[in-house]
Amino acid sequence: MEKKEMIYEGKAKKVYSTDEDDKLVVEYKDDATAFDGQKKGQITDKGEMNAQISTIFFELLEEKGIPTHFIEKLNETDILVKKLDIILVEVVMRNIAAGSLAERIGLEEGTALPQPVLEFYYKDDELGDPMINRYHIYAEELATAEELDEISELAFEINDILVEFLAEKNIDLVDFKLEFGVGTDGKIYLGDEISPDTCRFWDSESGKKLDKDRFRRDLGEVEGAYQEIIKRLTE
Ligand code: ADP
Ligand code: UDP
Repeated sequence: MEKKEMIYEGKAKKVYSTDEDDKLVVEYKDDATAFDGQKKGQITDKGEMNAQISTIFFELLEEKGIPTHFIEKLNETDILVKKLDIILVEVVMRNIAAGSLAERIGLEEGTALPQPVLEFYYKDDELGDPMINRYHIYAEELATAEELDEISELAFEINDILVEFLAEKNIDLVDFKLEFGVGTDGKIYLGDEISPDTCRFWDSESGKKLDKDRFRRDLGEVEGAYQEIIKRLTE
């Protein structure tokens, strides 16, 4: 497998073509951003840590029958994936109120939700990823009703798998963001990453934040939080 030219550089990852048309290499970077890119920084060894953490989650999900883009981890920062046509709808799943949900509907951060909440956001940096509903998605032709049903069903299944797995590690899965795409075979796959950059992880006992909120909110011990997640996932 040959890693060829970089075809996209995002905020947290670089994407490369390969000598096979249907495969890409995703390289995880140490760069960290928050608040629509207004806050920028670096988290030492984040690229390596997130590649490792994402691999653990993708392997778990594959084992449980979820179709993902993951093929194999190539080295410390690089993961070989199926090339997807990314659906420009970010799916956020929530189990506990935090972040924008807590603010928007006036729930105290930490309030357990009686059932998981699924939200859609338009993946558009210039617009600041606004929250959208099904009808906006149809109006913008971002996805069909069938695709939305399929990704919603997958998102709830993924939530159940991750909540159960993380509970054994004494971690509460507060919320997380997923991206889906259509593969060259026309099927829907889970893409992108699952890491402390895209999830909120709280220690089940102390409630300590073990995710990118430590960077967003200047809480300190940022690297330590990512290391703690790796420690718990690999123990
Ligand atoms: P952003 O674009 O938000 O700055 P990243 O830095 O994470 O995000 O860049 C990675 C990009 O790669 C994202 O736009 C993501 O949608 C895209 N991507 C993730 N997985 C795949 C895949 N399997 N095929 C094609 N694109 C992908
Ligand atoms: N999230 C993400 N990328 C985004 C927006 C949100 O990975 O562009 C994740 C975020 O890490 C959190 C969840 O989605 O785990 C919910 O985020 P929220 O809507 O509360 O937004 P925030 O306040 O974090 O910007």
